[in-house]
Amino acid sequence: EQDVAEYMKSLAIRVSGFDVPRAIRSFEDCGFSADLMKAIAKQAYEKPTPIQCQALPIVLSGRDIIGIAKTGSGKTASFVLPMIVHIMDQPELAKEEGPIGVICAPTRELAHQIYLEAKKFAKSCGIRVSAVYGGMSKLDQFKELKAGCEIVVATPGRLIDMIKMKAVTMLRATYLVLDEADRMFDLGFEPQIRSIVGQIRPDRQTLLFSATMPRKVEKLAREILSDPVRVTVGEVG
Ligand code: ADP
Ligand code: MG
Repeated sequence: EQDVAEYMKSLAIRVSGFDVPRAIRSFEDCGFSADLMKAIAKQAYEKPTPIQCQALPIVLSGRDIIGIAKTGSGKTASFVLPMIVHIMDQPELAKEEGPIGVICAPTRELAHQIYLEAKKFAKSCGIRVSAVYGGMSKLDQFKELKAGCEIVVATPGRLIDMIKMKAVTMLRATYLVLDEADRMFDLGFEPQIRSIVGQIRPDRQTLLFSATMPRKVEKLAREILSDPVRVTVGEVG
């Protein structure tokens, strides 16, 4: 136990919540499939970053999480890898029922980056990823979503447009990620986020990542996450 405490301290992590799964030290501790381990090895990710050490076991256990860590800390893999496990665990369903994993990000650049990161890991597992954001043809994105995907990465406004156009439904979604929540609020996306959350079944798993936690974001987190574990890395918050 002393050892675990020392390890957590070395990661500069603070955790709050009930019955929090202990941090892992390597990707081998995560119980990932051979396909996923191969994809991780291909990225030359030698060991998990501090946020990954603590967030991976929490999210893999099915818990909701609030992750607070600065840019460049490796947050994307901490929600993408468990998302792939979550999808692989689902029973086979008709593809027209829509994505299982939904990721919202504030800007098209960020959505595109997450899309690229998700594809690195999803491809080898036979999971399809789509990205939808403003500034691209709605018709092209409509067609892409219609073709089917298990993961969608989107800016909130464009995802709402796609839902309205019936390109996609949230009926099958059970894993929701709000990435860079503070920036989405700064950009005025709160109503769109609330609308999207309202269309996803309440027994979903919800993950919220943010560099800072202003009161408005804290309030949303309290409303839409259930019994979350809060993980803070470094000097942020
Ligand atoms: P954040 O979302 O916290 O800003 P990212 O998820 O974008 O950070 O990761 C930042 C960079 O670190 C990316 O280039 C990513 O590929 C890389 N990265 C993520 N996890 C690891 C790891 N375990 N080992 C090495 N590099 C990693
Ligand atoms: Mg990020």
